[in-house]
Amino acid sequence: MRDKLQQIKENAMREIQESGDLSKLNEVRVAILGKKGELTAVLKGMKDVAPEDRPKVGQWVNETRAAIEEKLDETKKKLEAAALDAQLKSEVIDVTLPAKRNKIGHSHPNAEVLDQVKRFFTGMGYEVVEGPEVEYDYYNFEALNIPANHPAKDEQDTFYINDKIVLRTQTSPVQVRVMESKKPPIRMIAPGRVFRADEVDATHSPSFHQIEGMVIDKGITFADLKGTLAEFAKEIFGEDTKVKFRPHHFPFTEPSAEVDVSCFKCGGKGCRFCKGEGWIEILGCGMVHPKVLRMSGIDPEEYSGFAFGIGLERITLLKYEIDDMRLLYENDDRFLKQF
Ligand SMILES: [Zn+2]
Repeated sequence: MRDKLQQIKENAMREIQESGDLSKLNEVRVAILGKKGELTAVLKGMKDVAPEDRPKVGQWVNETRAAIEEKLDETKKKLEAAALDAQLKSEVIDVTLPAKRNKIGHSHPNAEVLDQVKRFFTGMGYEVVEGPEVEYDYYNFEALNIPANHPAKDEQDTFYINDKIVLRTQTSPVQVRVMESKKPPIRMIAPGRVFRADEVDATHSPSFHQIEGMVIDKGITFADLKGTLAEFAKEIFGEDTKVKFRPHHFPFTEPSAEVDVSCFKCGGKGCRFCKGEGWIEILGCGMVHPKVLRMSGIDPEEYSGFAFGIGLERITLLKYEIDDMRLLYENDDRFLKQF
């Protein structure tokens, strides 16, 4: 009997040692200690043992069982630790793998051009200011020398909130607000959204953007305006760009001009892009009208200045050769990603 128990114990120890993983270990446990296990069978055979030998045999069985259980426990702990270790190793994050890219969209071509314009003018000492999009009729028209019944008011038909308040048709009212609140010298640009009662088509939108610019100081002349805008045109359209000033009329500047740049596609020879003209109109400008200066509390005998208004979309469409303004407002990712 003792030999048999010894045999069971030795076999059990070896099988436990060789089990290798938790499920195999459990099989070994069942095979020895389970209902039909080897050691259980020995216990069941106790009835055949002579009564006087039973305590001794019982003790051997218990000792064997205890030894096997201890070994099972110890092995189980080792295997569990090893399994956890393996799991941790397999789940380690490989920091050298390329990261998953999140779709974060793309900056709008309008925003790219506006950034470039801002960089250029702030580099020349201009301040970037903002004004309200919902504006007093006074600032949008009257203070800019556009009295009620002036034909220019018709051209800029807009959305009226009431008799005195409009959605601004231009960024020019910011000029007046700045002149009222600051003493010259003034060097500012005012980018922002403006509104007109226009139907949507390839070149019109009821809401678009302008960048107003203004300089007021002693002794500012048209030559300063020309020099500034010539540099601006080179910055946006390239070093070889030439500018042309065509006389024009705006109520709030005198003299006034529209500015063309030489076609950056054909260099001025005339092509489809410039409709054979060789020149492309980019903005309007002029010397601030003495009446506007006076209304804003600045003495036109002492100070003079120039102002310009750039259509942001116009520059963006030209620069990126986009032929339909509506593309700028659809925010289609496939379109935006091209710039
Ligand atoms: Zn051309």
